[in-house]
Amino acid sequence: MVEMMPTHEPFTITSLRLGELYLPHGGGLMRDPMHCWLVRGKGINILVDSGMADIATVQARMNVGGFGGGHAALRTALASEGLGPDDIQYVVLTHLHFDHAENLDLFPNACVVVQRDELFAAVDPVPSQRIYYWRSITQGVLERKRPNALRLVDGDVEFFPGFQLLKVPSHTEGMQVAVVTTKAGRAALVSDLGDHYRYWFPADRRATAHPQRSLAGAFLTGSIRSSSERDWQAAMQRVVDNSDIVVPAHDFRIPMRMPEQWFAIPESTDGDLAQVPPPARDNAGA
Ligand SMILES: [Zn+2]
Repeated sequence: MVEMMPTHEPFTITSLRLGELYLPHGGGLMRDPMHCWLVRGKGINILVDSGMADIATVQARMNVGGFGGGHAALRTALASEGLGPDDIQYVVLTHLHFDHAENLDLFPNACVVVQRDELFAAVDPVPSQRIYYWRSITQGVLERKRPNALRLVDGDVEFFPGFQLLKVPSHTEGMQVAVVTTKAGRAALVSDLGDHYRYWFPADRRATAHPQRSLAGAFLTGSIRSSSERDWQAAMQRVVDNSDIVVPAHDFRIPMRMPEQWFAIPESTDGDLAQVPPPARDNAGA
């Protein structure tokens, strides 16, 4: 509905891993990989989420460890796909938390797409989420005054044929999920509406090393949330009803290339919960 686009041109999706955060979990530290996604259709390059700040900044502000992030990690990830920031026409933000909406200054000529309610939530966060909404990010969004530099959307929208946005208040008040049509089917880039597979399949041994039988037929909801557990469950169900696979933001096992890799549930629980210290790496931020 927005621009001229060939109808039903299937998209491809590449997951970009921009670094990791080490988060307290059950007395230890859990490694959480940070992903955003490159969605390519005929002549259109869309970035879904723009990643986190460089780890030094995150460390100073949030007191958590990790590696990667910032302009460097995002530039490197895009370059590995033969692209630079100027090749991105749209940056679609699932929500405005610090680990998903940084680095917008790399894209002065792109159109940033976010739910209007999410921007309001970032301007005036619920108290428990103040720490996740960085003023620098909110400011960066508000300063996008050039024509077509910012598009605020309200509710569900078929942004391009085969690229749909679902508004799913849950983790945040204006959370949105991109449902992308590929040759293999529809992939929902669910970000933090269930940021690991275990949230989507909490009773399934393929998805988690710690299945919970009491959650069979239901979902696991996160502790950082702006709506009731019941509303969150309904939001996840609506995504499942409108897609073929879900792709979480912080799971090591997500497909890196779609539709070439295509699965609803991972084949192994390796990486479900990864502990620090991480194994040796060749190059940081890869
Ligand atoms: Zn996140």
